[in-house]
Amino acid sequence: MALDEKAIQERVAAFLAGHDPAGDRLEFLRARFDAGLAWVHFPEGLGGLGAPRELQNVVERELVDTPQLTPGVQAIGLGMAAPTILTFGTDEQRKRFLRPLWTGEEIWCQLFSEPGAGSDLATLGTRAVRDGDEWVVDGQKVWTSGAHHSRWAILVARTDADVPKHRGLTYFVCDMHAPGVEVRPLRQITGEAEFNEVFLTGVRLGDDLRLGEIGDGWRVAQTTLMNERVAIGGAPVRRGGGMVGLVAENWRARPELRTHDLHQRLLRLWVEAEVTRLAGTRLREQLSAGQPGPEGSGMKLSFATLNQALSGLDLEMRGEEGLGYDDWSFRRSDSVDFFGRGTGYRYLRAKGNSIEGGTSEILRNIVAERVLGLPSEPRVDKDVPWKDLPR
Ligand SMILES: Cc1cc2nc3c(=O)[nH]c(=O)nc-3n(C[C@H](O)[C@H](O)[C@H](O)COP(=O)(O)OP(=O)(O)OC[C@H]3O[C@@H](n4cnc5c(N)ncnc54)[C@H](O)[C@@H]3O)c2cc1C
Repeated sequence: MALDEKAIQERVAAFLAGHDPAGDRLEFLRARFDAGLAWVHFPEGLGGLGAPRELQNVVERELVDTPQLTPGVQAIGLGMAAPTILTFGTDEQRKRFLRPLWTGEEIWCQLFSEPGAGSDLATLGTRAVRDGDEWVVDGQKVWTSGAHHSRWAILVARTDADVPKHRGLTYFVCDMHAPGVEVRPLRQITGEAEFNEVFLTGVRLGDDLRLGEIGDGWRVAQTTLMNERVAIGGAPVRRGGGMVGLVAENWRARPELRTHDLHQRLLRLWVEAEVTRLAGTRLREQLSAGQPGPEGSGMKLSFATLNQALSGLDLEMRGEEGLGYDDWSFRRSDSVDFFGRGTGYRYLRAKGNSIEGGTSEILRNIVAERVLGLPSEPRVDKDVPWKDLPR
């Protein structure tokens, strides 16, 4: 019988009767995973109950006062690696990776972008060459968020240079502790280093770390990228919450700001934020019926545009004070901290929102082609073997 809200509530109550939230945090999270209350839409035995995705809200509500995950540092694992492993992993891979990924015992990063391949990811040049039961990986990745604290990475590498760029790619799980993996910090506009460049030199990965078929890496990567956009832009926000809430609070706290012009600008952004929030709710409802589609690109586009406009308005409203910066020291950051840091940080960090997870230009192309059905961009290199492409 299909599970409904009441059945989930009963499961949570039974779970809580046997597990004290005040006890060991990790043991509690492991047990929650084993009880199928990690992500209820995942299959039984893999942290879920095979239930409709929206019932996860019931679990979160019932367990709100119990030990929680650390969503910032776990974002790539939870939002991107997990759905990809679920879709393309073998039973062994799902069993090996999903539980410690969810509990946060193992942190994940994403080795996709390279100095010469970002928007056009399929041109990437990191090579993986087969050697018996292993693959030997050589190349350089860049902008790798969180590589410095990651145990595993999702990696796309070229396994065949003789076929067109999209066809010669294979998807792997990369052991970030393997010999030959070197992580170097990249300091960003906010002063800290959330991301890194990662050098891969003769890194040996067992064939059991391959995710999906050889040469099918592009298709596997699409699952990651679609989920990435939802993970970045699609988090639930309450009405008047998120970035617009902070700016509105600033406006309310300062009577001197109550000019007609600022009021109009804030209201316009408030309306856009509300439309985006409601579109996000609809997107999450659609998600309960399957994998995210191009709608996630629209969502992420709105998220980036709004964050930049709102953080800019906030800075402007604070005048001189807005130009101050809270902490310019070099730090290894775990995650984005929009709500813990000051206006200057929000303004600068929001700049990256229109680049990470696909630039706004690329997302507009996706929406144009796949949502609006407009003619596609000319793609002259799609049938040319990768080795013959100009670089
Ligand atoms: C904060 C942050 C975190 C990141 N974290 C990660 C990570 O963890 N892992 C990872 O792999 N990557 C990560 N990235 C990298 C990110 O995915 C890339 O920066 C992004 O895909 C763009 O690639 P690029 O930087 O090579 O720019 P390019 O692709 O070189 O683009 C340069 C400019 O040209 C424009 N452009 C390119 N092609 C087109 C086109 N066809 N039509 C119109 N305009 C176009 C772009 O919009 C952009 O303005 C991160 C980036 C940021 C900013």
